[in-house]
Amino acid sequence: MVKLAEWRGKEIFRRYGIDLPRGAVVRSPAEVAGALTGAGVPFPCVVKAQVLAGGRGKGGAVRFATNLAEAEDATRAILAMEFKGEKVREVLLEEKLAIARELYLSIALDRSQRLPVVMASAQGGVEIESVEESAIARVSVDPFPGLIGYEKRRLLAALAVSGAVARSVDGLLDQVWKVFVQEDAELVEINPLAIVGDRVVALDAKVIIEDDASFRHPEYADIRDDRTPLEEIAREKEIAFVQLDGNIGVIANGAGLTMATLDVLAEFGGRPGVFLDLGGTDDPRKVTEAFHLMAQAKPAAVFLNIFGGVTRCDTVARGLVDAMQQVPANERFPLVARIRGNNEAEGVAILQKAGVTSLPDLKESVQAVIAAAGGPA
Ligand code: GDP
Ligand code: MN
Repeated sequence: MVKLAEWRGKEIFRRYGIDLPRGAVVRSPAEVAGALTGAGVPFPCVVKAQVLAGGRGKGGAVRFATNLAEAEDATRAILAMEFKGEKVREVLLEEKLAIARELYLSIALDRSQRLPVVMASAQGGVEIESVEESAIARVSVDPFPGLIGYEKRRLLAALAVSGAVARSVDGLLDQVWKVFVQEDAELVEINPLAIVGDRVVALDAKVIIEDDASFRHPEYADIRDDRTPLEEIAREKEIAFVQLDGNIGVIANGAGLTMATLDVLAEFGGRPGVFLDLGGTDDPRKVTEAFHLMAQAKPAAVFLNIFGGVTRCDTVARGLVDAMQQVPANERFPLVARIRGNNEAEGVAILQKAGVTSLPDLKESVQAVIAAAGGPA
């Protein structure tokens, strides 16, 4: 998932002809004067932190300036900020437009329907999560024909636009759809989409590019993302490994079991610190690498929760034991195991021989690992 900063999203929008405020990016207050003149940004102007987190408006990361000194001061103040844990390195300066209305528009991938869904609301400018469901129109779009006439009319109605503005929005819908498809996005969000006279202007841009399409986008290769150094290594090795902020490691197989395990741990007061989804892997080399990564995350204890289905318990257990024996002694962690399913008895016996006890009961095993990690939070 490559999340693009607002200004990068807007650079894409510009290529597709979407109406935008004039603006420029700076990295120091000294660049402000030149940037404003260069981009033809008049006063009053808007000074916006380029961070990936939302809610900048409420959080003081979007400011207004009526002259150069104010713009420089706002830039200095914003560059000194850490917004929701993210250091601000870039600031976007834009002309301040007179907003008549703020709308919401997005296209996202709806994974349950396996279709892109366009969302539109006349109540923009606030987080969409806080808008009541009945005020949001959702239109699932067949990707092959793309957005068609009646779908667009439904969206225009939801946005409560008419006349020249509706014609602008109609054109915008096509442009945003093209951005979504041609740029391999999994999310394109414009909030607020502002009505300024007859114009419809994208005041904000949130674009997320699909990871699976990253090979088509070398231009994003060096964009820093929110992966930790260990997650970065895991990604290169194609291991599903995610760090959280607790102290218990979870090793499970399959996304469903992994997520359920995290939930159960949390239910009993445990704090998951890292999880590793072995998926269908029983390649001991890969499992060894995964254990090595787990060790580097320094969990207080690890819960190994395995279901033997198509890959039988004994096969998985043998792979795990092989892998564990490759891990140097100083990297071992307290381990609580639970292995259930096909050929369970053989799997349990293999683990047992390697000194790992498998507790069949989920609650019991979860409580054991929480105790091994120092007790519930
Ligand atoms: P977010 O809070 O991180 O989503 O940042 P936004 O880019 O959405 O900006 C927050 C708010 O600043 C918007 O909802 C607008 O109300 C306001 N804002 C941003 N640009 C302009 C502008 O050009 N003119 C005016 N009047 N307000 C703006
Ligand atoms: Mn916004």
